[in-house]
Amino acid sequence: MAEFTMELNDEQKEVRDWLHGFAADVIRPAAAEWDEREETPWPVIQEAAKVGIYSLDFYAQQYFDPTGLGIPMAMEELFWGDAGIALSIVGTGLAAVGVLANGTEEQIGTWIPQMYGDASDVKVAAFCSSEPDAGSDVASMRTRAVYDEAKDEWVLNGTKTWATNGGIANVHVVVAVVDAELGSKGHASFIIPPNTPGLSQGQKFKKHGIRASHTAEVILDNVRVPGSCLLGGKEKLDARLARAREKAKKGGERVKNAAMATFEASRPAVGAMAVGTARAAYEVALDYARTREQFGRPIIDNQGVAFQLADMRTSIDAARLLVWRASWMAINGKPFTAAEGSMSKLFASETAKKVTAQAVQILGGNGYTREYPVERMHRDSAIYTIFEGTSEIQRLVIARTLAGMPIR
Ligand SMILES: Cc1cc2nc3c(=O)[nH]c(=O)nc-3n(C[C@H](O)[C@H](O)[C@H](O)COP(=O)(O)OP(=O)(O)OC[C@H]3O[C@@H](n4cnc5c(N)ncnc54)[C@H](O)[C@@H]3O)c2cc1C
Repeated sequence: MAEFTMELNDEQKEVRDWLHGFAADVIRPAAAEWDEREETPWPVIQEAAKVGIYSLDFYAQQYFDPTGLGIPMAMEELFWGDAGIALSIVGTGLAAVGVLANGTEEQIGTWIPQMYGDASDVKVAAFCSSEPDAGSDVASMRTRAVYDEAKDEWVLNGTKTWATNGGIANVHVVVAVVDAELGSKGHASFIIPPNTPGLSQGQKFKKHGIRASHTAEVILDNVRVPGSCLLGGKEKLDARLARAREKAKKGGERVKNAAMATFEASRPAVGAMAVGTARAAYEVALDYARTREQFGRPIIDNQGVAFQLADMRTSIDAARLLVWRASWMAINGKPFTAAEGSMSKLFASETAKKVTAQAVQILGGNGYTREYPVERMHRDSAIYTIFEGTSEIQRLVIARTLAGMPIR
């Protein structure tokens, strides 16, 4: 087990500086344009693929970094550049992790390369879990997957919503109900290969922030996929369902939604994205406060402004520490006895919202315009308290964990 450290090693520093350079030179200058266009920034993704940032290799290297700091460091730098573009770059990684975590070696080898494509023909992937009536309450999911034994095929029907890259993805990973009696324990994940008939994009959402990232409904109408598209395989699923049924029988009640607890390990990554946006806004505000003069002196000479900056920096550093702690715990298999993953996401996302609002205030009228990036950063930051579990759900998970209650 790697010791917890707050110091990046030389190799990590090199990667961080390389990512920072890409974020500063390629992502940030493109941010305003793609925010206005509200379209997937394909040329930027392609650029990221060319230099190796948009690739499974890069993602896996950071993901398996034994210190746990690889992913949070990478997320912070890319999202420092711009949240919408960065989500377009890392969105595929979220789907790929679903396959890495649950897929067989053959599934990993077959599907992940098709999620990314290559630098001359980049592709993206989507992870589709949320539904119109199943957001925070994952257990009320309705999309069904039914096994057609004669053909060794699964047939999926339902509507997914809010899917990042939904409909434009080459590969979709879809979570569906295979046993409705078991709540979230009766869910399974499926690969929907490219150009599968029956999968279509529904509404594409016009959003408040992260507008360069494509978010849409995904309609599944009698989508047939081979048995080999069930992540982990049928044998493993049958064994898992049998265990869940046995537990449900013993417990004498329907198994409740335990999915919320399983996100502990992935939530710090979202916290790191929030730290990136918060740090970006703080830096703009600090620079502005030092140079903008009113009443014959820089506005930072007013305690009312300087104290805001002091609070902003303190919360950003505190958020990063929580994120790094939880990331280190996740990679080292430490039990999240106080829901430390949720804590990090809760604090970092609330910090990003607060800090970006303070940055707008410090820039005055300029902060309220699209001439300066803090306006966009403030809009972008609102997503962090919503996706991957809202702030209320994080508090619920933390509170129930502390109380020793089941998380449902
Ligand atoms: C831009 C964007 C991208 C997304 N990307 C993806 C994606 O790629 N894949 C995917 O599957 N999903 C994705 N999501 C979905 C996201 O995870 C959900 O929006 C989120 O889980 C909240 O669900 P909901 O929107 O249905 O809100 P609801 O669950 O309806 O919640 C509404 C409000 O009620 C509160 N609330 C609900 N239950 C409780 C409770 N028990 N106690 C206290 N308060 C409660 C919530 O905190 C919230 O404030 C994305 C969403 C957005 C906006």
